[in-house]
Amino acid sequence: METKRFIEKDPQLQKDDLIVITGAGGFIAGNLARYFKNKGFTRIRAVDKKPLYEWYLKVPGVESLCLDVSREENCKRVCEGAVEVYQLAADMGGMGFIERFRVECLRSILINTHMIEAAYRAGVRNYFYSSSACAYNVLLQQDPKVRALKESDAYPAMAERGYGWEKLISEMFCQEYWAERGMKTHIARFHNVYGPNGTWDGGREKAPAALCRKVIEAIDKKDLNITIWGDGTPTRSFMYIDDCVKGIDMIMHCDELIATPINLGSSELVSINELLSKVEKIAGVKLKRHYDPDAPRGVAGRNSDNTFIKKMLKWEPKTPLDEGLAVTYKWIQEQYHNRKKGKRVVE
Ligand code: NAD
Repeated sequence: METKRFIEKDPQLQKDDLIVITGAGGFIAGNLARYFKNKGFTRIRAVDKKPLYEWYLKVPGVESLCLDVSREENCKRVCEGAVEVYQLAADMGGMGFIERFRVECLRSILINTHMIEAAYRAGVRNYFYSSSACAYNVLLQQDPKVRALKESDAYPAMAERGYGWEKLISEMFCQEYWAERGMKTHIARFHNVYGPNGTWDGGREKAPAALCRKVIEAIDKKDLNITIWGDGTPTRSFMYIDDCVKGIDMIMHCDELIATPINLGSSELVSINELLSKVEKIAGVKLKRHYDPDAPRGVAGRNSDNTFIKKMLKWEPKTPLDEGLAVTYKWIQEQYHNRKKGKRVVE
């Protein structure tokens, strides 16, 4: 049995304190590594199981390790000497992935189980966990005119099968490592995140990237048709990546939020049809829409209730969707044309 740590007030995080970021070959954690580097942190350890050439961002001056953190021995190596750990590694993707590969999603429990234990044993001061809005009760998300989800809506639990339940259980690990063992943990429930340097093709991409790519492809192939998954009516909110990394930093460094799940998402609700209209406007094109009723579509509606984050941090993700989408479209367009020219791109 483990004894509870003596809990003291944290000293100020120093610029040469070691920060560990897992999943850093992926979208959000890669951007997070760059964010901390730009803030002047000098010791950042970025970790991902993917080979380095597949990472979206390789941040100069950041230690980059290719290790599988679902393995206990690797987690020990990764957490050695760390002051803070940001755990963002997960086997995940958009609806097409999480509805089809529930076993892979559930197996991410190995990552969180070993990472949090290794962090505790290494004496890590603060541990961040990237949860998801998929942890919320699906019965509250059956109408496109959804009531925005507040933090207490996760219980009674009826999370998204596979992916959502894994997130809920990992949240519970974080809460109990604080309650029983005194390690400070922080939990953000991300609502759809989008932006440059993320998945845009290959089956794991989410709606904003998928629609941008399809529009770019339609223009390129001069075939002005587009197929939309489902009937286009489901609603979602989408958070721009810069808001996401800033929010992670703020949540991690707020002592009032220890072991307290909090929404990190935009509250600008749009339907998939509206999202496509925005992309069309950016691209200056109008496509003929076809709907695929058999494709994965997820819950009917989901939005982030930001009452709690506004109260705790006096802040909420605010980048307008039109603005973030324009930057994302441009980035995907570059990737698309580079790939076409035979240049190496990361999808
Ligand atoms: P991503 O797929 O781009 O990045 C995840 C990274 O984790 C990948 O690069 C992958 O290779 C790595 N990974 C997977 N298993 C690993 C392992 N065993 N060891 C080491 N690395 C491993 O995903 P993302 O969008 O950047 O998501 C980051 C986190 O945020 C995830 O936990 C995800 O569940 C959560 N989240 C994301 C969103 C979103 O909209 N992107 C929404 C809710 C929650």
